[in-house]
Amino acid sequence: MRVFTSPSSAKHTVPAGFPETPERLDRAEDACRDAGMSPDTLTVHELEAYDAVTAVGWVHTDDRVKRLAEAAIPWRAKIDTPECPVSPGTPDAALDAVRTTLCALDRILTGPHRAALALVRPPGHHATRRSAMGFCYLNNVAIAARHGQRQGRSRVAILDFDVHHGNGTQDIFWEDGSVFFCSLHEDPRMQYPGSGFTHERGAGPGLGTTLNLPFVTGTKGEPYLRALEEQVVPALEAFRPELLLVSAGFDSHREDPLGGLLLVGADFARMGELLAGLAARLGVPALFVLEGGYSPACFDDGMRPFLEAWHEGRLVG
Ligand SMILES: [Zn+2]
Repeated sequence: MRVFTSPSSAKHTVPAGFPETPERLDRAEDACRDAGMSPDTLTVHELEAYDAVTAVGWVHTDDRVKRLAEAAIPWRAKIDTPECPVSPGTPDAALDAVRTTLCALDRILTGPHRAALALVRPPGHHATRRSAMGFCYLNNVAIAARHGQRQGRSRVAILDFDVHHGNGTQDIFWEDGSVFFCSLHEDPRMQYPGSGFTHERGAGPGLGTTLNLPFVTGTKGEPYLRALEEQVVPALEAFRPELLLVSAGFDSHREDPLGGLLLVGADFARMGELLAGLAARLGVPALFVLEGGYSPACFDDGMRPFLEAWHEGRLVG
């Protein structure tokens, strides 16, 4: 597993008390080092190889980047919703998050490594085709799916295990049968953004390629992992993807201040094992893209055991 970051993610600054902070990435980088994976900070030169504005247009409406730039002037300072503050550095940070994700993907599509983690912020999975939402401005994982398809991986699976439903990713691929979207999340009746019911299954050519598994608030690891093993993994295998993308949010950890699920380190380790086994059986590259996680424990006791188990699973798998 290779880990990639960009130098600009800290430029997306937020108001005091806002949960999605630049310090989150410091915690994530520490967790990677503790798991024996040293993050590789991409250079400006490496990032400049990617035309992020064009890539954003693959999944978002044409005015997205322009509107984000316009929102960065101080008297606007937000875009679309109050939970999406925009600082002067936000457009650069968001576009570099896209570039970092695409660069990480290219490294596993062409290079010797078969798995990578893009440590990016702002996160992306709530960003719909038309709107920023829930700390998310540009949908990094959705753009990666389109990039993968342009590189010849026509069938792409996206697994989203953030505690919040990946409504933006679902929105973008709702009628697209070439991208399988599966999300495990907290009960939408209790948790933001209020979507992700089991009856949401896609439409038209995409009917059946959206799979939602909501869990009641207070769910611990055992039923969650059973669903992952017995429902999610078989569904992803049956789709026969040529690329596996994972919206990796660690806010289902029990210490997370926003999430209401109760997963602990051992549960994340088991998730890492299950996904390592899945990727090995599928024989496809796997790209993890950071989404949520708002307590230090999400990284120390969520991401770290997940990465360690993934690493060990790959060695035996
Ligand atoms: Zn989340």
